[in-house]
Amino acid sequence: MPDGLGAPLSEPLFQRLALIGIGLIGSSLARVCRRKGLAREIIASDASALVRAKVADLALADRVAETATAAVTGADLVILCVPTGAMGAVAQDIAPHLTPGTILSDVGSVKASIIKAIAPHLPAGVHFVPAHPVAGTEQSGPEAGFATLFSNRWSILTPPEGTDPKAIRRLTAFWTGAGANVEIMQPAHHDLVLAITSHVPHLIAYNIVGTAADLEEVTQSEVIKFSAGGFRDFTRIAASDPTMWRDVFLNNKDAVLEMLGRFNEDLSALQRMIRNGDGNGLFELFTRTRTIRRGIIEQGQETAAPDFGRRASET
Ligand code: NAP
Repeated sequence: MPDGLGAPLSEPLFQRLALIGIGLIGSSLARVCRRKGLAREIIASDASALVRAKVADLALADRVAETATAAVTGADLVILCVPTGAMGAVAQDIAPHLTPGTILSDVGSVKASIIKAIAPHLPAGVHFVPAHPVAGTEQSGPEAGFATLFSNRWSILTPPEGTDPKAIRRLTAFWTGAGANVEIMQPAHHDLVLAITSHVPHLIAYNIVGTAADLEEVTQSEVIKFSAGGFRDFTRIAASDPTMWRDVFLNNKDAVLEMLGRFNEDLSALQRMIRNGDGNGLFELFTRTRTIRRGIIEQGQETAAPDFGRRASET
């Protein structure tokens, strides 16, 4: 069955792509690069020997390197796909082995702090073009990836001031080739936008699932049994990788706290409406929020199928 990715390119965009960190995102990139012929050669590396062995088993790359430094040697595109908290140390490690002209990018979910952690290590002549594909699932590891993960999703590039425009164009072509739409943003603005669209929603999910787990009057088996009332949709998000999300909150502290402040104020207003029996207020808000959902469906970022497309047999 066609996967919607289209035909492979007639000429690869890069000669040698090095991917460091082959989890959900790194392995999805490896798969789509292979499928679309975005790079002539793919070299993969991961800190975990188990992951390296799995990548070799799955034949996700042309070569699996033991170390990140061995992987980046001779690469004209290097993409760091490790947790955000590990980006700085990996950049420091590989920096002396990067060739002038190489494009270094990353896929981290937070941008300003990653740029601060990576940029100081880079030698002159290496083009740093940070990126964040706004696509993912709650799964991790090399087996969780798939080639269409980025299809019709956004990849946000946040090039620091003075970045070579040709490097930005080349990375844009790479992400477009991977099926994504590309938007350029200031790093600080990216962090604010993602704080409200991704980071705070994850925090709310982690919190509500944690609250339910700690309840004494309602048992855990009741929470699980009656989860179709809404709770289970939070549990999907709250099953996301703990390392990744710990790092996101530690590295996007200011933007998350800013959005959380706004969220708490609005939650207090809702609490007041419930206490005061303000049905009109509640109705008006719930009507406005439906419009946002319709916009997301219209822009192809979600399915309009009821119950997130679950079939009755799956519920
Ligand atoms: P993942 O599935 O957990 O994969 C990360 C991989 O990096 C793991 O195999 C990990 O090995 C390895 N790793 C950790 N430290 C390393 C190091 N110092 N050197 C080399 N490899 C190292 O994570 P992911 O979901 O792909 O996320 C990767 C990045 O993408 C993160 O920065 C995240 O913010 C970003 N991102 C994630 C999503 C999402 O929805 N998941 C979406 C967009 C962007 P170990 O398991 O042994 O630690």
